[in-house]
Amino acid sequence: QSVLARIESVEEKVGSYITVCKDEALKRAKEIQDKIDKGESVSLLGGIPMALKDNMCTEGIKTTCASKMLNNFVPPYNATVTRKLFDADTVLVGKLNMDEFAMGGSTENSYFKKTCNPWNLQRVPGGSSGGSAACVAAGEAVFSLGSDTGGSIRQPASFCGVVGLKPTYGSVSRYGLVAFASSLDQIGPLTKDVTDCALVMNAICGHDPMDSTSINESYPDFTKALINDVKGMKIGIPKEYIYGEGLNSEVKKAVLDAVEVLKKLGAQCEEFSLPITEYAIPAYYIISSAEASSNLARYDGVKYGYRAEKFTDLLDLYKQSRSEGFGTEVKRRIMLGTYALSSGYYDAYYKKALQVRTLIKNGFDEAFSKYDLVLGPTAPSTAYKIGEKVDDPLEMYLGDIFTVSVNIAGLPGLVIPCGFDGNKLPIGLQLIGKPLDESTLIRVGYTFE
Ligand code: GLN
Repeated sequence: QSVLARIESVEEKVGSYITVCKDEALKRAKEIQDKIDKGESVSLLGGIPMALKDNMCTEGIKTTCASKMLNNFVPPYNATVTRKLFDADTVLVGKLNMDEFAMGGSTENSYFKKTCNPWNLQRVPGGSSGGSAACVAAGEAVFSLGSDTGGSIRQPASFCGVVGLKPTYGSVSRYGLVAFASSLDQIGPLTKDVTDCALVMNAICGHDPMDSTSINESYPDFTKALINDVKGMKIGIPKEYIYGEGLNSEVKKAVLDAVEVLKKLGAQCEEFSLPITEYAIPAYYIISSAEASSNLARYDGVKYGYRAEKFTDLLDLYKQSRSEGFGTEVKRRIMLGTYALSSGYYDAYYKKALQVRTLIKNGFDEAFSKYDLVLGPTAPSTAYKIGEKVDDPLEMYLGDIFTVSVNIAGLPGLVIPCGFDGNKLPIGLQLIGKPLDESTLIRVGYTFE
């Protein structure tokens, strides 16, 4: 009730939600309360109100991907993460706004509405999981899940001053996550602090036979990493992330101040070079758009999703449905991806991008032979003004410089707040770990709490 009252009072200004499931949430909360009253055991997350990005399937509840294409799509099944959170006795409060099909970095590409940054309503919350970050920052849910293909959990966490974790590729099931770029997509938590992050990770990670890329490993109890000790830990800071062009000076200072704190606590911090960084954005936009063009071919107006009212024949049905159902950014990616995959261009673009992918992976492997973790900024700036970058997609893409490599290499990345700029806007510190070593990230993140 307290979270619903908070939604009642601030949602009109913030706009985190596409769907609020008030009645279902109250009913579910009552069921859990009854369980407790009867003396039955509930999980540590029992009764906690949470919300999901609107690209995760929820049985019987609309899952729109913030697209006209899926405006009326009601999934007949739950995503694995939805089921796992239900099994953990949480209460689903609603579905969150995002960039259409998770393509974007400001949540301005939603078909439905804009979401505002709770710290300053004239600013974007980041994206594509902007609703997921804003709702936690505004107290409209205790935690949320977002998805991260090239930074979409971490950058909004940074812009909204919350904790966001992009887990190792394959550690959280993608079954029931509407696909954007399948080799990069990963679901993760957005929380108020690192302790909550560990608790939610415990609930959502694990092997899932329904996801062919799921890693079949035993996963640790992440709360075991909530210890205040970084002594002797080796931390590498890529020079390109600090001295490269375009990093805002206040963000730089906040990140370097965090390094000083870690040094005082006994960590060994040193700079190193990740020279391939300048090719990460082009490689990411080729690979993600190529995969998107293939994944989004399923929206043809026939099986499910939007169907145009007027068409002459089958081909025209496809054309009209896709022209009317998709927004501008989604169309841009489909065209870019189709072009990059077409014969004659495949070797020059897609194959080249995959070669860069290997080099990026090798760069991190080498770094992790020396360091326990890699540290840097999350985004070049703090939250910018709504509308400021909407007409300049390339400028928007450049904002992903510090986040995309983590997806390209399949690594875990944790963002924690590390200060504010002169406009009182939050700054996020990014910690990047070895595959399946979320525990180290949680441990270092926790020392800042
Ligand atoms: N901003 C990036 C993009 O537009 C990342 C999106 C994401 O992680 N879903 O592709």
